[in-house]
Amino acid sequence: MKKVIIIGAGVAGISAAIEICQSGHEVVLLEQKSQIGGRIYSIEDNISGDLIDNGQHLLTGAYHRFLEILKILGTDGQIKKQKSLSIDFYSKNGTTSLDTSKLPGSLGLLYGLLSLQNIKLVSKLAAINLAIKLKIGLEGNTDEDCHTFLRRHNQGEDLITLFWEPLIMATINAEMNVAPAKLLVNVLKKAFFADRKSAILMFPTTDLNQLLEPLDEFLAKNNSKIKLSTKVAKLNFIENTCKGVILSNGEIIEADAVIIAVPPYSHQKMLPSESPLAEFAMKMTYSPIISVYFWFEQDLFDFDFAGIIGYHSQWIFNRRRLIKIESPKFGGHITVTVSAAESIIKMSLDDIAELVFDEIRMVFKIDDEIKPIRHKVIIEKFATPLFTCENEKQRPSESTDIEGLFVSGDWCDTGLPATIEGAAISGLNVAKLTKKFLV
Ligand SMILES: Cc1cc2nc3c(=O)[nH]c(=O)nc-3n(C[C@H](O)[C@H](O)[C@H](O)COP(=O)(O)OP(=O)(O)OC[C@H]3O[C@@H](n4cnc5c(N)ncnc54)[C@H](O)[C@@H]3O)c2cc1C
Repeated sequence: MKKVIIIGAGVAGISAAIEICQSGHEVVLLEQKSQIGGRIYSIEDNISGDLIDNGQHLLTGAYHRFLEILKILGTDGQIKKQKSLSIDFYSKNGTTSLDTSKLPGSLGLLYGLLSLQNIKLVSKLAAINLAIKLKIGLEGNTDEDCHTFLRRHNQGEDLITLFWEPLIMATINAEMNVAPAKLLVNVLKKAFFADRKSAILMFPTTDLNQLLEPLDEFLAKNNSKIKLSTKVAKLNFIENTCKGVILSNGEIIEADAVIIAVPPYSHQKMLPSESPLAEFAMKMTYSPIISVYFWFEQDLFDFDFAGIIGYHSQWIFNRRRLIKIESPKFGGHITVTVSAAESIIKMSLDDIAELVFDEIRMVFKIDDEIKPIRHKVIIEKFATPLFTCENEKQRPSESTDIEGLFVSGDWCDTGLPATIEGAAISGLNVAKLTKKFLV
């Protein structure tokens, strides 16, 4: 049995820890914060009593590794799954529904695209044509941004605005003319144009903290542990081999291998500044996500979630329906997501809440007398790395040129956008490499 230190208890670190300790090695997971989860976490809103997430997280049926982690931890039952992909999009022109339930398998998606309201037939046919090309592998690697890619495939502006733009913002957290098409293609192949099960959307029915809570117990059963509020200051090198870490309190912990599973901005402090990885990490830029939570006397919405087209607000989630709690203090509770939120990030929190609620009022035709009892705005300035056509090609693999040192995280080269599943897959990749190294 060998000892592995993993720095960072986000999804990547957790995924790696589970895989490595399951194979009989000892894992010590070090996390600087007082809770696990990294960029997925919840806090209590002390006025309403509701637990709110740092941002509503949406999963798809294609999140195979993350769903496997939840199964191992016994919390997979706390996820609500659609039966088939279905989304209602609201705009000032009315509602358009993508409903793939009418026919089985891939035919359901074709039928769903064909029945979209307010979309020209020629646009629907172009989308179906693209879906077929992706399905049979005619379109693969591409260096273009998403908008150029979609135009090259004759996607109509109506469908771009209604379907492609919201999908790109939600999955890649970047504007269409920045987001690399390669990531979109992979998302489409793995999820939306794969099979019925992979395309469905899934929602946690509990706050995010609870999903990962059993980790502690799981690690203990597998001869491993997590140390919270433990910040790694430096790596401990002996010649060109990584032999452990030095904590911010000066304590040295030795190990046979070390995995750094922290975001790029934390990386650069730990690695030697001349390393190419530190250089890449230093150049990384980020895309913000803003989440605005509102509380009302009553539930005003008869859906779990919906897309919003043509406004800053992009998705609305009805937390009162999705998250089960007993005797809530306020009957209505929603959150609205603004991805790639650069354009409003400098506004005051109250102004952001007012802007977002005005949009919700307009789109859902809410009476003027109805006002939110309370709001809370959460800005995640560094929500995800901002992948561009240029930096996408330089995303690091999980191995490094330093013996005994590995990296992991949503920014590694998984071919996926910076998402929970990207982080979970990177954790699995790094675990496999580490286990091979330890043999
Ligand atoms: C608001 C918001 C909404 C999102 N929505 C979605 C969504 O709907 N669907 C989706 O799939 N993804 C979504 N994401 C993205 C997803 O949350 C991330 O891609 C994923 O959680 C990243 O995991 P990670 O393990 O790579 O990194 P992180 O979660 O950042 O984990 C890194 C960990 O390392 C720790 N750490 C850093 N430095 C040190 C140190 N020196 N010592 C010890 N520990 C350290 C950090 O505290 C952190 O816990 C969203 C992200 C945000 C912020």
